[in-house]
Parts: sequence; structure tokens; C-alpha cells
Amino acid sequence: MKSPTTPVLTLAFVAHDAKKDQMVEFAKRHAEALRGHRIVATGTTGGKVKEAAPHLPVRLLKSGPLGGDQQIGALIAESGIDALFFFVDPLSPMPHDVDVKALMRLALVYNVPMALNLATAEALLTDLVATVPDR
Ligand code: PGA
Repeated sequence: MKSPTTPVLTLAFVAHDAKKDQMVEFAKRHAEALRGHRIVATGTTGGKVKEAAPHLPVRLLKSGPLGGDQQIGALIAESGIDALFFFVDPLSPMPHDVDVKALMRLALVYNVPMALNLATAEALLTDLVATVPDR
């Protein structure tokens, strides 16, 4: 039986600049539910989450435009991600748009649950936490 502190899921967090505050609030609001899991995040998103909720186990990757999205894509391809929380800004052009598309594409290819906005993230996290055994 797993102890309550055993990390059982690896969750990937990415938020575009206009959505970073929303991601931070999401992480803070669900800090208790997230505490037992691993979080990997693109650099700036993860740094802000860590700053707001220092007890959460956040592994920082590169910043998204510098390869962080691709690092998360690679983890998905290696079956290292259980769910992707990707708060996308649909109103701003992105210099790394190709990376954004590639990340979404890999989540689709590998059938990884992917929340692209806050409403879906709330539903997905609730479902994940409710269905993870021994917690
Ligand atoms: P960031 O990357 O968290 O390093 O800002 C997010 C992104 O892909 O834009």
C-alpha cells in the first residue's frame, strides 16, 4: 500500500504568459490534492508555481520558448506524463507556436489527458485525484 506521500502521478504544467496567474491560483487552490504527486513544468510557469506554493514538488524544465514544451513532449513520448495541464492563450501570437502544436499533438498521439483551459483543468484534476488508488 502506498503511503499518502508517495508520488503516484506525474503532472505537466505549462501556462502561456497571460494564463500564468490562473495557473498559480489553480495550483494554490489544489495544493493539498497536488502535494502527493510529481509536477514537471516549463521554467517560468513552474518557477511561479513554486514561489506561490513552495511545498509542491515541482521539477523545472527549460522555459517553453527555449525547449521546455519539447522536453514535456519527449516525456510524454516516454510515457512519463500522466496528464497535461496546458493553459493556452488563444489571443496572442507565439514565437514558439510550432512547439505548442507539437506538444498538443504528442498528447493526442499518446492519449494523455490534456486540459487546455481552467474549466477542463478543474474537472480533470478532480477526476484524477478521485480515481488514483490508495490515496
Ligand atoms: P514558460 O513556458 O512557462 O517557460 O513561460 C510556457 C510556454 O510554453 O510559453
